[in-house]
Amino acid sequence: MEFLYEGKAKIVYKVEEDKCLIYFKDTATAFDATKKAIYEGKGVFNNTISSIIFQLLEERGIKTHFIKKVSDREMLVWRAKRLDLEVVVRNITAGSLCKRLGLREGERLKKPLVEFFYKKDELHDPLICTEHALLLGIADRKTLLETKRIAKKVNSILKRFFKDHGLLLVDFKLEFGILPDGRLAVIDEISPDTCRLWDIKTGEKLDKDRFRFDLGDLLEGYKKVLRKIQ
Ligand code: UDP
Repeated sequence: MEFLYEGKAKIVYKVEEDKCLIYFKDTATAFDATKKAIYEGKGVFNNTISSIIFQLLEERGIKTHFIKKVSDREMLVWRAKRLDLEVVVRNITAGSLCKRLGLREGERLKKPLVEFFYKKDELHDPLICTEHALLLGIADRKTLLETKRIAKKVNSILKRFFKDHGLLLVDFKLEFGILPDGRLAVIDEISPDTCRLWDIKTGEKLDKDRFRFDLGDLLEGYKKVLRKIQ
């Protein structure tokens, strides 16, 4: 196996010309990695939860990089050329949307809001519009529109899925890549690190906000998410 890349929460290895292995670490980071911690077992939760979600999306016709979960902490995926883009979908106000626009947290949006962020650590992942993404050469107009269309479809699938399991999908982030055959696919992970999930009955926050704002044991939240969706 050839080491390819180590990120804040994952390590990526090349296993064959067109396949990679993603290893999920136990590290948690927030606020531009100024806040850091290790939670033993977090990687296992995120790999397991992401695998369940990617499988669901594939079954519902969304192209993803997911091939299979190969161990507690490892997922086999198709190799993809990552777009330097984070696509955020919101159903309820929270996080940077509230901060930026002075909104109260927890307000239901009339329709889902899709936002683009430029994936660039040095610039702290700024909010961008389609014209900025074109200017930066992140992707062509057709591909950018396609990421928005897929993100909205993923939102309807996941909103319903989580609701059926007692969870409210507040917002989430997707990343996209181009597969060797040229197709656009959802890549990276979809887990409580990248989604805001609230218990429908109690309103309890079960995602990374627990770590960001010291709301309680992080793994307790992730364990509750997994128990509900399994
Ligand atoms: N998100 C993410 N990675 C990022 C930024 C955001 O996974 O680098 C997720 C985050 O967990 C939340 C959604 O995208 O579910 C919207 O995040 P927001 O823009 O509110 O930023 P935050 O306040 O979480 O930094």
